[in-house]
Amino acid sequence: PVLAAAGLTRTFRLRGGQGEVQALRGVDLTVDAGASVGLVGESGSGKSTLARIVAGLIRPTAGSLRLLGREVADASERRRRALSRDVQMIFQDPRASLNPRLPIHRTIAEPLRTHGLPARRAEVARLLDRVGLPARVAELYPHQLSGGQCQRVGIARAIAAGPRLIVADEPVSALDVSVQAQILNLLKDLRDELGTAFLFISHDLGVVRFFCERVAVLYLGQVMESGATERVFATPRHPYAQALESAAPAVRLAERRSRIVLQGDPPRPEDPPSGCPFHTRCPVRIGPVCDEVEPAAYPVGDGFARCHLLTPEEGR
Ligand code: SF4
Ligand code: MG
Repeated sequence: PVLAAAGLTRTFRLRGGQGEVQALRGVDLTVDAGASVGLVGESGSGKSTLARIVAGLIRPTAGSLRLLGREVADASERRRRALSRDVQMIFQDPRASLNPRLPIHRTIAEPLRTHGLPARRAEVARLLDRVGLPARVAELYPHQLSGGQCQRVGIARAIAAGPRLIVADEPVSALDVSVQAQILNLLKDLRDELGTAFLFISHDLGVVRFFCERVAVLYLGQVMESGATERVFATPRHPYAQALESAAPAVRLAERRSRIVLQGDPPRPEDPPSGCPFHTRCPVRIGPVCDEVEPAAYPVGDGFARCHLLTPEEGR
């Protein structure tokens, strides 16, 4: 695998010493070479924290993170920088992710320079062409480009140094719907051409279904269910995954299940519930066991789900 996380945990201290937030609570996740894994969940589920840890922007508090077989959870700044050639990130807000004072050719050449690769203008023109932009864009500044064009520049920068893994954090959610499809198709074409693995973060299950062969469903910093995308969409086993799936725009109307509407807001991450983290909103909560005992990860297909309904006793 290009990415293997085990027990990955990240705690943020609240300002003024008012306690801590556990943004990630023991995440296990694997991304094989060339594979695309989707990460879905509501805001506050820890998706962006995980993205930022994998991209080397922040460090985990505990747990193991192996990138290309090397442990990086406690790696030095220098070792992380060396790895940054292999792991690149695409951001949600394409314009904000570009330096407004740099012409586009400098932004795209930046990862090449950083890693001592030739950063000739011809290479920048080739990268622009790969993401569907004309060569003249090299001379422009971000404010002269549309949001979709800025994201194409962000993608050119991400692929410039030939990464093995791209972390895409909501790469199309800030774009117009018509542009979203173009950018998704571009990412898919590049992925198939380059064989780059993706950790693809989205709140949009339709997008994940289009792009990813595997998916992990995050809730309050824990993976509730994971597995092959088709399996998780067709037969979600965790009640939270079932609710997310039922609320997604119908892709196949004939198979439409009735919508499960969750009551209440997600609990505050600084004050997570005891037992099953989903028990305060779960429509099929069994009883005190859900409030008191944290469910184990039970194997489902080639993945798992964390729910007491899946215990062997309940399954009988
Ligand atoms: Fe619902 Fe209990 Fe399963 Fe949690 S463990 S998802 S509360 S049934
Ligand atoms: Mg986010």
